[in-house]
Amino acid sequence: MEQTDHVLIAGGGSDRLAAALGIPQVEPDYYITAERAQQQRLAAQLGKVTLDHDSVYNGPAPTDKSGTVGAVARDDRGHLAAATSTGGMTNKRVGRCGDTPIIGAGTWADDATCAVSATGHGEYFIRVALAHDVHARMAYGGAALQDAANAALVRIAAMGGTGGLIAIDTEGRLALPYTSEGMYRAWVGADGQVRVAIYADD
Ligand code: ASP
Repeated sequence: MEQTDHVLIAGGGSDRLAAALGIPQVEPDYYITAERAQQQRLAAQLGKVTLDHDSVYNGPAPTDKSGTVGAVARDDRGHLAAATSTGGMTNKRVGRCGDTPIIGAGTWADDATCAVSATGHGEYFIRVALAHDVHARMAYGGAALQDAANAALVRIAAMGGTGGLIAIDTEGRLALPYTSEGMYRAWVGADGQVRVAIYADD
């Protein structure tokens, strides 16, 4: 963080820091939408903790994916950055922390290797420190980005989790693997051409 000596601030302290920095504040109700409230009710009825795009809501081919958003980037000086935003799992316990805000689990960036942003069952991602695992495979094992990303996701799948990640390396090469049926993704390179895909054959 550029404005404090710290790396991670949570809870009321982060609200106070945001206010002190002049970042606009909204009431919690701002984040409640009819669709997400309906998903919460359904998950509670089923007694399940789910991803926002689980087929329990949308059928096997989700038409609306409006949940977790991740971004990775390499700038023209070679700096790498990653960011991830999520509402977390639906029907989670109050106080449950997912992988998204945990540096090394759902998000990681190191100028020497890669930037990674993940989505999926956070409990598994935390257990294997997934985003850092991609970095470590490159830094210590000399793996290429795609191989490192695939291998990290294999660990998640072996534990029974599903999800995906987006990653970029020092040369601007991308890896966008996932174990779910599809993953909404878009990318743009130095040529400025935007490409989008959902399923493997898009
Ligand atoms: N990874 C998020 C979590 O576990 C959920 C998601 O990616 O949709 O909180």
